[in-house]
Amino acid sequence: MRILIVEDEKSLADIIRKGLEEEGYAVDVAYNGEEGLYLAENEPSDIIILDIMLPGVDGMTILKKIRKAGVRTPVIMLTAKDTLMDKISGLDSGADDYLTKPFLFEELLARIRALLRRNSEVKTSIVEIGDLVIDMAAHEVRRREKNISLSAKEYALVEYMTLNRNKVLNRASLTEHLYNQDFDLDSNIIDVFINRIRNKIDRGFDKKLIHTVRGAGYMMKE
Ligand code: CA
Repeated sequence: MRILIVEDEKSLADIIRKGLEEEGYAVDVAYNGEEGLYLAENEPSDIIILDIMLPGVDGMTILKKIRKAGVRTPVIMLTAKDTLMDKISGLDSGADDYLTKPFLFEELLARIRALLRRNSEVKTSIVEIGDLVIDMAAHEVRRREKNISLSAKEYALVEYMTLNRNKVLNRASLTEHLYNQDFDLDSNIIDVFINRIRNKIDRGFDKKLIHTVRGAGYMMKE
C-alpha cells in the first residue's frame, strides 16, 4: 500500500516515512503544499496523511481541491491544535480521519489500517483466505498453523492482494501501489515477488491461492 505524507515539518515527515517504510508501505513525501497537491492529484496513493498548517497551499485547501477534482483517496488530517472548529471543517471538507500532534505512531498505524479496510471487502485486521490467515495488525501470515516468514515487501504484496482479494490486479497497478514515485515502473519486479510469495504460501499445497490470470495479472482467491 502506498502512502503520501504532506508535512512541512521535515523531521516529523521523515520519522513517519521511516516508520511506515519499516512496516512495508511505499511512501512519497511532500514538504510543501504545492508539491503535496500535485502528488495527491497525480500519484495513485492509497492513503494521504495531510498536515493542515503548510506554507503556500494549506492542507484544508489541498483537501477541498482534490475532493473537487474527484480524488477519493482516504485522508488523515494532522493538526497541531486540538480545536473543534478544525475538526469540523476538516471532516466537512472530506477528511476521513483526524490526528492531533503529538500522536503515537501506533495510533497512526491503526488508523491507516482501518481506512485501508474501509474500501475493501475485508473488515477486520485478521483475514482468512481458505486456510491462509493474514493478521494485518501483527503482520503475520500463517497457513494451516504454520508461520510464513516474509520480507517487508513480500508482506506488503500479500496484504495488498488480500485487501483486493478476488480482483485481478495487473502488474502496473501492483507496482504503483507497492513502490513510490522514485521507482521505475517498467521493471518485472512484481513477477519476482509473486514467485517468492508463491513459493512460501502455495508450494506444497494442493489448493493454490495465488492465481495468474493470463494477459491480465494476478489474483488472490480461495
Ligand atoms: Ca505544518
